[in-house]
Amino acid sequence: MNSWNVFGHDWAVEMLHGHVIQGSLRHAYLITGPGGVGRRTLALRLAQAVNCPTPSAPGVPCRLCRVCKQIEAGQNIDLMVIQAESEGGTLKVDRVREVQKFLSLKPYQSPFKIILFLRFQEANANAANALLKTLEEAPSYGLLLLTAENAEQLLPTIVSRCEIMRLRPLPLEATHAFLETQGVAPEKARLLAHLANGRPGYALRLAEDEKTLAFRAEKLDDLRQMLASSLCERFGYAEKLAKDKETLRRTLFLWLSWWRDVLLRSAGAASALTNMDRTEEISLVAAQLTLATVRKITSTLENSIEKLDKNVNARLLLEVTLMDWPLLK
Ligand SMILES: [Zn+2]
Repeated sequence: MNSWNVFGHDWAVEMLHGHVIQGSLRHAYLITGPGGVGRRTLALRLAQAVNCPTPSAPGVPCRLCRVCKQIEAGQNIDLMVIQAESEGGTLKVDRVREVQKFLSLKPYQSPFKIILFLRFQEANANAANALLKTLEEAPSYGLLLLTAENAEQLLPTIVSRCEIMRLRPLPLEATHAFLETQGVAPEKARLLAHLANGRPGYALRLAEDEKTLAFRAEKLDDLRQMLASSLCERFGYAEKLAKDKETLRRTLFLWLSWWRDVLLRSAGAASALTNMDRTEEISLVAAQLTLATVRKITSTLENSIEKLDKNVNARLLLEVTLMDWPLLK
């Protein structure tokens, strides 16, 4: 564990810590990486590092004082957290306008006023333009922190005004070790570390949320069921599932991870599967299909997920996806 008590991403902590103690802080940072990898945690630690009144060493937040605890909870008077109403939603311009108002007054009790924009790839065009204006006009006491999956999703004019920190997924063993430090039982930690693909925060959310795991089990069972169903039955299922777009989105991601595992097995890779608790059924399916078939199914799923974000007819999209699948008894 590094001095900021962030799990992994030592290089990023070292660099940001350096900026804090050398007084070379940029006024905007963009932290990228897959959700649950640690972007938000790193941003909050930076916020604590600049505003903690009782640091335990230069540039190292104590994490015990009132300010640190409030920042950790996202509830500090000099911190504003901005995000779309729900994950996968849209961040609208009104929220970014609140930031301009927030920044117009000096900090209340700390050196910096910090705005943390979560998942900024969800900002619509108006919101992105409003942020650009904010970036250009931010006062010297303003520190803007953005998280996103990758920089390419944002306006180049925004990206060029930020220092970019690219967080990478952690090794499997590191995620496993992290879960054990959080009190997750060893066997469960092993499965979750595989499912999380190097995203410790996501793994922890899974550990704390039985519903998400139950949802996963249900949708993977559905997938197996679909493979044994007629086209007519599949379309009936598609009609129901397409009613809620967020559920559909989450389902397609789960299915994609399952099919990617089949692809690994079809290609003869010996590496560990993401859905390790489903190794047996995945190997069985892989043995019945050609590599080309599995490739096609996987790429259709990838396309479907991409199109889903572009407001196409969800039911039609799902029907097309399921039509591709072979009938396996
Ligand atoms: Zn503190």
